[in-house]
Parts: sequence; C-alpha cells; structure tokens
Amino acid sequence: MELLKQRIREIGTVVSGEVIKLDAILNHAVDPALTTAMGKEFARLYREERVTKVLTIESSGIPIAFAVAQELNVPMVFARRKKTLNMDTDTYSERVPSFTKGIVTDIMVSKEFLNETDRVVLIDDFIANGDAARGLIRIIRRSGATLLGLGIAVEKSFQAGGRTIREAGIRVESLVKIASLANGQIEFE
Ligand code: 5GP
Repeated sequence: MELLKQRIREIGTVVSGEVIKLDAILNHAVDPALTTAMGKEFARLYREERVTKVLTIESSGIPIAFAVAQELNVPMVFARRKKTLNMDTDTYSERVPSFTKGIVTDIMVSKEFLNETDRVVLIDDFIANGDAARGLIRIIRRSGATLLGLGIAVEKSFQAGGRTIREAGIRVESLVKIASLANGQIEFE
C-alpha cells in the first residue's frame, strides 16, 4: 500500500536493526484518514469471505481493526492483555511473549464474543516473530471459529512470523513489507 509506505518514510524512526517506531500513525497517535484507507484495503481483500468478526489485540490493533469492521459491517473484538492469568472458564486465554516489551503476557477473549459460528479475520499492526498472531490463532481454534486469514499493516519480512504462518497454510495479507532495518535505513520489499 503506497500511502502507508509514504507515511512510514515520513514519520518512521529506526530504533534498532529489528524495531521501527511508528508512533505517529500506529502506536501512540492515530491518523484517521490513513487508518480508514487501511481498513478499506483489508475489507477489499477479505470481502468475498463472508467475514462475521474482526479480531485484534489491544492496543495498537484496535483502530485498524475497527476500520476493517466498519467497512465490512461486522463486529470487532479485541483480545485483552492480563497481568495474571485467572482460570476463568468463560474466557479463552493464551500466554504470549511480547516482542517489544520483552515480557510474557496473558491474552484473553471472552467466550461470549467468539464461537464456532464465526468466520474471523485477524488484524494487527505489526508482525515480527509471530507470537501475538499465534496466540490469537490458538484462541480462534479453541473457540471453534473459522480463521479466514490475517491482515497485518506492517510485516517485517526479515523476521520469521509472516513466513512461518503462511507455511502453516494460513492466508497472511500485509499492506507493506519491510525487508530490512539495517544501518538505520528502512528498506521495503
Ligand atoms: P510478534 O508477536 O509478531 O513478534 O510481534 C508483534 C507485536 O509486537 C505487534 O503487535 C507490535 O505491537 C509489536 N511490534 C513488533 N515489532 C515492532 C516494531 O518494529 N515496532 C513497533 N512499534 N512494534 C512492534
């Protein structure tokens, strides 16, 4: 998606060879026009799939997932992050390592909001190693819902997440792919 690439070139700061800061559009501030455009693009990609629900994880996935859900006219659900895993029988919980924070968090979705009748698109801001996505995929599987695929704003294709999830036979659509952040430079695929 050319518009997203352009905005990343304008506001992106390379933090290290592995991490890019996109606070101005994704992780601290929200650009409504850009977010709406991202939502339209994911909706276009998945429109024929009879989506019933858009799933994401708090917090940065929420605006994008909202925009997709708005376009498809379906509900959006966000997994919540919990400090402690309570053994609540009314929720699906999974433990996932957090790429940016370097800690493990427990994520959960209430059984009320995901079940076997759902056809789900999973949306997130970034994919790096794929741990967040795999946690959410496990939750979708456990709920009996059908996973239609992923929609990722920024795939860092030099990390294994997107590739390994595709290799598992799951559709992964990313709006931009960053091939390298070496030497402080953003290189798109
Ligand atoms: P993964 O679980 O795929 O390793 O990492 C995905 C999560 O880590 C994303 O939801 C995102 O919040 C965060 N993340 C991964 N890489 C980056 C990055 O380069 N920049 C920022 N701002 N967040 C990232």
